[in-house]
Amino acid sequence: MFSEIFNHNLIEETVSKSLFVTQKDVAECLKKSVFSEHDLPILLSPSAENSLEILAQKSVAITRQRFGNTMQLFIPMYLSNECFNTCTYCGFSMEHKYQRKTLNDDEIRKEAMVLAKKGFKHILLLTGESPKHVSTDYLKNAITLIAPYFSSIGIEVQPLQEEDYRILINAGADKLTLYQETYHHESYLKYHTFGLKRNFNNRLDALEKGAIAGFYQINIGALLGLYDWRYEAFAMASHLNYLKKRYWNVKYAISFPRIQEMIGEFHQAYPITDKQLTQLITAFRLVYPDLGITLSTRESATFRDNIAPLGITTMSAESSTSPGGYTNGTHEEQFHISDNRNLNEIIEMLTLKNLDPVTKDWDLSLMS
Ligand code: SF4
Repeated sequence: MFSEIFNHNLIEETVSKSLFVTQKDVAECLKKSVFSEHDLPILLSPSAENSLEILAQKSVAITRQRFGNTMQLFIPMYLSNECFNTCTYCGFSMEHKYQRKTLNDDEIRKEAMVLAKKGFKHILLLTGESPKHVSTDYLKNAITLIAPYFSSIGIEVQPLQEEDYRILINAGADKLTLYQETYHHESYLKYHTFGLKRNFNNRLDALEKGAIAGFYQINIGALLGLYDWRYEAFAMASHLNYLKKRYWNVKYAISFPRIQEMIGEFHQAYPITDKQLTQLITAFRLVYPDLGITLSTRESATFRDNIAPLGITTMSAESSTSPGGYTNGTHEEQFHISDNRNLNEIIEMLTLKNLDPVTKDWDLSLMS
């Protein structure tokens, strides 16, 4: 399992190496047309920030070559805000006292119908982490209820066992998203102070269990702002390389969510600027030409508009982060989104940028 080979010291060494990269190293590297994982410390170096224009141009060219002009659109749907963990940066953290909500069958169906009517075909189901309220059986039932309305169903829930993932795949789920939050173990324990989530290795190994169980797509990510972004980037690359090597038939995607204002007093300890995030996205595109890169509504409309053509392949739209948020907006949300535009406005923006927004590019029901 990945937790057995994850090497913190090696990641720290890579960060140090990256900090000493020179402008000359960057210029040499950018002469290439094909990049490898060994180029990542150069492309993510402080020196490479001055070559952002070239990085962006190369990233656009590779993205158009591999993905055409398409931009996959999806919508998140929260099933529950119950959580039995304390994560110091999250609105669902168990110490926040408010009435919790887990959607029942009728509410799940209603939300799904509203979203399907808006035109969404790809959906991501999210929950807090409370196995008591959101068990594998609950998730299986929710997936079965919404399956008739969508061509792709992703899940972003607590780490599960291989057998649980298999049950959810059989019910109709095809994509698994699970962010490590931070790959820096010491920081991880600092932010996750109570609950099952404190088990760092359990989270680290869950995606692999999902790959073994047979998910069509696996999405990795770290919540940027919890620790040094370069450390997270090299750790994600290490995770990705490991998974790609062993589970080569799985499709992979990555997200770089930046932490946003949430309930409580959390302040970003390790901010990452727009420029650095652009560097991160374009560098990953150069090194991993076929990787899906997802951009969420956590980011502002202006930033999303600017970055969309540079390497992004998937965007969320019209998101709500509370259970029942599309039919009954009264329950607590996990975090505030920044881009509040509706699906049609996002489609209009993408079209103006010569991108082809698609709400469906994959249909599980067509697989034999
Ligand atoms: S980040 Fe996830 S596990 Fe942590 S409090 Fe929020 S919903 Fe619960």
